[in-house]
Order: sequence, then structure tokens, then C-alpha cells
Amino acid sequence: MRRIALLILSLSFALVQAQSWAAEVKDFRIWASPEKTRAVLDLDDAVDYQIFTLSNPSRVVIDLKKSLLSGEIQLPDDRSSGSLKRVRHGIRAQDNLRVVFDLAEAAKPKSFLLDPAGGHGHRLVIDLFPESGGAKIDPAPSWNPNPERDVIVAVDAGHGGDDPGSIGPSKTQEKNITLAVARQLNKELNSMPGIKSFLVRESDYYIAHQERYEIARRNRADLFISIHADSFHSPKPSGSSVYILSSRGATSEAARRLAEGENRSDLIGGVKLNDKDDVLASVLMDLSQSATLESSNDVANTILASLKGIGKVHKPNVERANFAVLHSPDVPSVLVETAFISNPAEEKKLKDPNHQRKLALAISEGIHDHFHTMPPPGTWIANHRQPSRHIVTSGDTLGAIASRYQISVNKLRQVNKLRTDTIRVGAILVIPNS
Ligand SMILES: [Zn+2]
Repeated sequence: MRRIALLILSLSFALVQAQSWAAEVKDFRIWASPEKTRAVLDLDDAVDYQIFTLSNPSRVVIDLKKSLLSGEIQLPDDRSSGSLKRVRHGIRAQDNLRVVFDLAEAAKPKSFLLDPAGGHGHRLVIDLFPESGGAKIDPAPSWNPNPERDVIVAVDAGHGGDDPGSIGPSKTQEKNITLAVARQLNKELNSMPGIKSFLVRESDYYIAHQERYEIARRNRADLFISIHADSFHSPKPSGSSVYILSSRGATSEAARRLAEGENRSDLIGGVKLNDKDDVLASVLMDLSQSATLESSNDVANTILASLKGIGKVHKPNVERANFAVLHSPDVPSVLVETAFISNPAEEKKLKDPNHQRKLALAISEGIHDHFHTMPPPGTWIANHRQPSRHIVTSGDTLGAIASRYQISVNKLRQVNKLRTDTIRVGAILVIPNS
């Protein structure tokens, strides 16, 4: 009926005058996260619009100038609708399309237009923030009164919501793989004594890069780990990679391209990148990043070593690239590309829950090794870990080993009954607790 009505409407306009619509609403999508509900109107062009709220009952009204609706506006049955109870629409005077959200609870709207990116066209994004503050994404901080606090790990599943990430040859979406592996990793970490882990993204919705590491900082995380799946334009490349932030450009051209691809997520998922924020971020970054980078490098190495135990790695060493999600100035941060989703054999493995669990186990072992080698002071692990061992590799010096484990050269010499500073490759040194 509506289609016929619209047809008659447009026909009559055509008769009166060559009437052109400013924009057409083609689709409506919704993503509910713990802190907000995101509604997206897919448009064929940028649009002039107004948005306001009405109370008793709570509503959000969006007037789109000279627009018409060609798609369906419907709430999904399969997903939580967040703050939305019902969506209505109608054509008003001056050919304005009015869309009304009936809200389940009072919410503040924030809206913005997005230009075409990542397979999406023009979009009007309306974020609804519940006035009650919504469900808190932060778990109760366990860092304060406990004299032996847990080490906190923030596990970030890459992409989500409107941003599927890379897509495999048999249409596997990266965002689903990252969430499955992240959930497994979260479970593994939480089963380890002295480690408490939480998910930055809990289900299928998008979070901007900066917000992701801000969530980690708010929760006093000792480590931020972002899970992804790699992709290339040819099906050949394979293997896992581990990345840390590069302050001076990427280690390889491929790494630079990968970072560009991952960073584009914010344009797809719904954030306008702001130059001013970038300047501020880089100032903050310089202040405390070197210490953070050292820790990031250490944990990235233990994770990579552990991943080598379960399969092929793409490159033998930890790589560096300028990923926006790793920009946290004070939380050590690493990004794991679990495998190549563009490689058909690896895509198949990535979909397999058994393999997802293997990946999660390997990553959690790497994290465990790192924190048992360099536990943050005041943590349960710092007080309860066993003395560890270090196998001397070429290039190692007593001084470097001592500083890695935060102990003095003297103590290292004493415990291992070394009379000189000469150590041979392959020797096993006992590392006392600092
Ligand atoms: Zn990714």
C-alpha cells in the first residue's frame, strides 16, 4: 500500500513540477551496546536534517528534508533493540520525512552524517545514550583495596557492528572470528590465578579505536590485546603475526598497508576522525610511550613464541605498525593477527571452534609468561610466582638479561654462581623473583 501511495505521490509531483528528492532512505539498522544504542539510516545522498527529543513518553524525532523512504524501517527480532521500543515514520509538510523513535527509556541523542566508506553509502548515525547512564561497561575495579591485586587484561575483539573487518573467500566476516577468539581468550585468562580479564566489545556492535583503549585505561588495564584476522589480495599468505605500535613508521610496506586498512574501520564503523584529537594523542603518546612500548614488546614476543608452538607464523619477529587502536600512552598494547582470513585453508581453521580455542590458549600462555617474568609491582603474581628460567640466546648479555627481569647483575651472578660476565648460548639461568 505504502509503495503505491508513494508512487501516486511521486507521479503527482512529476505532473506538477519536476520534483527531485534530496535523499532517499534505503535501509535502517540498529546496534545495541552496553553504553549506547546506535541507529543507522542508509541514504543515497547527504541530507539536511533536524533532530529533537520529546518527553512523556520519551521520543526522538528526526526530520529529513525533502526525503523519501524506499526501504523498510523495522526493528530486528533477532537482536536487542537497546533503547528503542518502536520506530514510526511519515511524510510531513514540505516533503519532509519524519522518523520517530519511541524509546524504552529517556536517552540523549547524538547524531552525525558519514560519507561513503567501506562498502557503505551515505549514512545518518543516531547514537542514543540512556540518561540513566546505561549498563556500565566497566567491571568493578579490583585494583584498589586489595594489597595483592590481580593483573588486569583488556581483550578487544576487532571490528563489529557496521564494520565487518576483512571478509574471507567463503564470506566469513572477521568481526565474528575476532569475537569468538576474544571470548575464548577471556575465559582462559580468567581461569589463571592472579589474572582478571574483561571483554572490551561484548557482542556485535562497533566501538571507535580511541574508545577501545580508553575503556582499557578506565579499567586500569595492565595490558590491552586486540584480536584480528589478516587479509591480503592474494590467497597465498598465511600464518599469525603479532604487532606493537611503531612510533616511526611501520617495519614493512605490508605492515603499513595493513595498519591503513585496520585504521579505516573508524570511517566505516562510524567516527569522523578529528585532526585535533590526533595532535593531542601524539603529544600524550610521547610522554609515556617508551616505557609502555618496552612492555608491549616483551609481551608481544612471548605471545609470538607461544603462537609458534601451534602453527605457522607469518613473520619470525614481532612487527611494528601504526595501528590507531594501539595508541594508548600508558597501557602496554599488542595486536594479534590470528591468521589470514583471505587464505581459504586458514579461513576454514578460523571458523573452527577447536582452532579458536587453540589460538586463545596459545595467546593466554604468552600473556601468562610475560606477567610471570615481569609482574607489575603489588600484584598477586609478583608475590606468588615461581623463580623462572632464561635460556641464553645469541646477543644476550648479563646486563640485558638483568634489566629485562628487573633484577641486579650482581644478584643474577650470585644466584647462578657465575664468576665472570661471560655466558654461553644455550645456558639456562635461574631468574630469582625481584
Ligand atoms: Zn582487523
